[in-house]
Amino acid sequence: MTVAAYLVCRPTFDVTAFLRFLARDTLTWHRSPQARPGEEIVEAAGRVCYLSFGEAQSPRTNAEYIAHLLEMGHESVLEHVTWSFVLAGVSRAFTHQLVRHRVGFAFSQLSQQYHDERDAKFVEPLGLDAFPQARAAWERATEAARRAYRDILDSLHVLETGTPPELRKETRRKIRSMARGVLPNAIETKIFVTANARALRYFFRVRGGILGDLEMRQVSAALLAPLKAEAPALFSDYEIETLSDGSPIVLHRELQVPH
Ligand SMILES: Cc1cc2nc3c(=O)[nH]c(=O)nc-3n(C[C@H](O)[C@H](O)[C@H](O)COP(=O)(O)OP(=O)(O)OC[C@H]3O[C@@H](n4cnc5c(N)ncnc54)[C@H](O)[C@@H]3O)c2cc1C
Repeated sequence: MTVAAYLVCRPTFDVTAFLRFLARDTLTWHRSPQARPGEEIVEAAGRVCYLSFGEAQSPRTNAEYIAHLLEMGHESVLEHVTWSFVLAGVSRAFTHQLVRHRVGFAFSQLSQQYHDERDAKFVEPLGLDAFPQARAAWERATEAARRAYRDILDSLHVLETGTPPELRKETRRKIRSMARGVLPNAIETKIFVTANARALRYFFRVRGGILGDLEMRQVSAALLAPLKAEAPALFSDYEIETLSDGSPIVLHRELQVPH
């Protein structure tokens, strides 16, 4: 199973409304024609701080302006733009690490209390197939866990007998809660993730380049690739490279600030 990241929400900018805001003070904004909505929002937010419009506007392009903000560490303006992804083909082990990111992220994850995991898939670690003995052990363990989960559900089904309809949902939740403990970290999950540009940059920095955490690197690369197309100026200092084993890694390089 491969990691899949679907970009489902992206920033939109009502430029007309913003220009009406500027017109109140007879200000104008010399915009960069190539700038994308997320990039323009960041620039607009930054310029509002100094009201650097009209004659006060420097000749910097949008990309140069954003590079300057990043160089100064004026990064709160990056919090105005968010993207949402739905992830599939990822393990619960991975999402447990992902949801530790508290700032600038929002998560909605498949519930193991409401969802029956009887037919769930497992995310096999990439490269495990090169080690037949280890892979066989992994398969034995995941299949045993699945069997145990199903056995527990089947055995506890009796709890539903005679349960009034209004309590049935809670009884099923109780049964699944009792069974889910045997599910392994490798179980596949789905998660809806929204994050702002600042939080995403921080995430790539601390998570994208961890050599020993392949799944984290795969997800980091799957998120960064579309973001680099969506808002190049916000992510141009992060690169996706390929290691000798073919796996991706996200690396941060120092900003090239145009002066
Ligand atoms: C290589 C690596 C190894 C790890 N190993 C472990 C481990 O063994 N065990 C474990 O439990 N976790 C581990 N973690 C998880 C790590 O401790 C963080 O929980 C996770 O990376 C999220 O980072 P964060 O808290 O900086 O992010 P966020 O929660 O998104 O916070 C972002 C930033 O906001 C600021 N901030 C947020 N909350 C507070 C606060 N309450 N007070 C002050 N400042 C705050 C900090 O500057 C923080 O860096 C590991 C992470 C990495 C990258």
